Amino acid sequence: MRIVSISTLVLLLMLLTSCATVPITGRQQLSLIPSSTLMSMSYQQYGEFLKTNKLSTDKAGNDQVKRVGTRIQGAVERYFQQSGQADQLQGYKWEFNLVESKEVNAWCMPGGKVVVYTGILPVAKDETGLAVVMGHEIAHAIAAHGSERMSQELLAQFGAVALSTSMSQQPEQTRQLWMSVYGAGAQYGALLPYGRLQESEADRLGLIFMAMAGYDPHEAVTFWERMAKMKGGQQPPEFLSTHPSDATRIAEINKLIPEAMGYYGK
Ligand SMILES: [Zn+2]
Repeated sequence: MRIVSISTLVLLLMLLTSCATVPITGRQQLSLIPSSTLMSMSYQQYGEFLKTNKLSTDKAGNDQVKRVGTRIQGAVERYFQQSGQADQLQGYKWEFNLVESKEVNAWCMPGGKVVVYTGILPVAKDETGLAVVMGHEIAHAIAAHGSERMSQELLAQFGAVALSTSMSQQPEQTRQLWMSVYGAGAQYGALLPYGRLQESEADRLGLIFMAMAGYDPHEAVTFWERMAKMKGGQQPPEFLSTHPSDATRIAEINKLIPEAMGYYGK
């Protein structure tokens, strides 16, 4: 079983050296994809998305999205500068676009590539509501939640491939044992959808960024209450299905507001 042990060690070393730290929360997360790779993939995918979707011609809406986005960008940049981590934003090419769609949705790809759908504007209601949405989505990107998930999936695949390669000289029985051990690891360990942890993290960071941008974080409560009211239709909008807005979340946000207020207007 020596080969088994060495492979475990190699995998363990790979994991130990492939961690990143989430800003503010300090949580250690898996990070297997180089930032430069993420950025170039993001910029390509973002460009493709803009080419194949209709940009909104609503000037007031566009101006609002760009104004809120730019203010939150400034907050994020100040946060990283003040904490001596300005290099974390290296390669960022911030962009904020409003896309014509009934979907109640918004997202941010790596490197600060944001899209807001016109469908979420009535729920956002005003500029502060939009800051809740954009703060939350930008926080997901800043906390590298997408990269974390991709790493987990890459690990599942790359690990299996590496294993089968390294074991090509080994008896079939051993190979199969390892494939099954690895599969179990992926099944019970790494491969989880965007979870509650990431959502809470995005709420916390999002509130801080919106506060730093000069938007009152108390408004996050009324925004998520408006989102919660939208529930109950037969087909919940995309943003709701990935962002459960229940009483628990609103209660948690209420608890996070005092911390965010410490950053208000700073
Ligand atoms: Zn979210």
